[in-house]
Amino acid sequence: MKKVAFYTLGCKLNFSETSTISRMFEEKGYKKAEFTDSPDIFIINTCSVTENADKKCRKVVREARKISPDAYITIIGCYAQLKPKEISEIPGVDAVLGAAEKFRLIELLDGFVRIKETKVLASEIEEANIFNNAYSINDRTRTFLKVQDGCDYSCTFCTIPLARGNSRSDNVPNIIQAAKEIANSGVKEIVLTGVNTGDFGIRDGKREDKFIDLIKALDQVEGIDRFRISSIEPNLLHDDIIDFVAESNKFVPHFHIPLQSGSDKILKMMKRRYLSALYVSRVEKIKSVMPHCCIGVDVIVGFPGETDEDFLETYQFLNELDISYLHVFTYSERANTEAPEMGNAVPMKIRHQRSKMLRTLSEKKKRKFYDENLGRIDTVLFEEDIENGMMHGFTNNYIRVAAKYDPVLINELKKVRLTSINASGHVEIEEVEAEILNH
Ligand code: SF4
Repeated sequence: MKKVAFYTLGCKLNFSETSTISRMFEEKGYKKAEFTDSPDIFIINTCSVTENADKKCRKVVREARKISPDAYITIIGCYAQLKPKEISEIPGVDAVLGAAEKFRLIELLDGFVRIKETKVLASEIEEANIFNNAYSINDRTRTFLKVQDGCDYSCTFCTIPLARGNSRSDNVPNIIQAAKEIANSGVKEIVLTGVNTGDFGIRDGKREDKFIDLIKALDQVEGIDRFRISSIEPNLLHDDIIDFVAESNKFVPHFHIPLQSGSDKILKMMKRRYLSALYVSRVEKIKSVMPHCCIGVDVIVGFPGETDEDFLETYQFLNELDISYLHVFTYSERANTEAPEMGNAVPMKIRHQRSKMLRTLSEKKKRKFYDENLGRIDTVLFEEDIENGMMHGFTNNYIRVAAKYDPVLINELKKVRLTSINASGHVEIEEVEAEILNH
């Protein structure tokens, strides 16, 4: 029985896809192995957003070769689609597969027999027009379920449409079926994942469904206690979605909404599909119906042409906005995108300074959000995340809590009162119900 090991770089989507590909191998009689367990085959799923994608990929390949000098090494993922030739020249790589090929790799690499040349099977991105469903089962607690792939937008900093192709989705019955399978495996929380999740519903280039219909249907699936929406563009986060989440017992009060800049000038240069006022209206709407909703924000600093004034506008905008945390990205130039052609590049040192300022602001926002929640009762799903005798979990509204380790609590939902913030920045709790809420 050949042993196959996986390594994943990047986002939730990549994790869900690696997980599905690993199950495909197991169905064909391969044995899943740890990376260090001398596998016969390595599958490395790459990311193009990660800075130094190239360096990281080389490093993983080098390590894999050291562990198993004769193993078959395959590279898939966004970086493989964008730079197949470059990757094929990394010493030790046996095959590079693009977006249209990665789910067929067992059939395409027939037997995984090493030959002298590196196989490159990466069609043009237009060929990646089929939706391949995927979900991750890494631990028993939470699953990333892919409902949508690709993106039809053309943000000037982004390579994702080039790496993942046009927007396309699964259909609702297939997703319900996957959610039922996940429920049967004992997982309690599903995170709905996509490149542009709110754009759910396009099949063969035509809009067939809306995101609101998907979440209404999922809300009925028995056995799943919590659904979380991974990220949704502000222009697609319509009132009906917010109102539905506010009413639902299963969709949790947590939104992650990319902003990217608080300056309308920069938003226009980025070709985002909204201006800052729309973003404010989304936050206000959420908070009016869910005062304790967690709101996470993606923001990019150092986009070409971002002056000190533009950055301060973003800083002020975020400072005044009722949000809970930031994910800060330092802009970096990507090949084949419009932004680097715009000139007025911001010096790297300034990009890093701005990034640091926003990271500090994020800590402040998070602390305030946690503080505002002290004294409240919420439900925690405990995870197998144990450190120094403590275990952790998240509330519905994404507050990370810490409790004394108790193996019985793993993958259980429990009603707790949030009492204080400890030195690690996690919230401590007290039990409010003796009985575990284990539906
Ligand atoms: S919405 Fe913009 S940033 Fe997001 S994946 Fe699409 S093109 Fe990229």
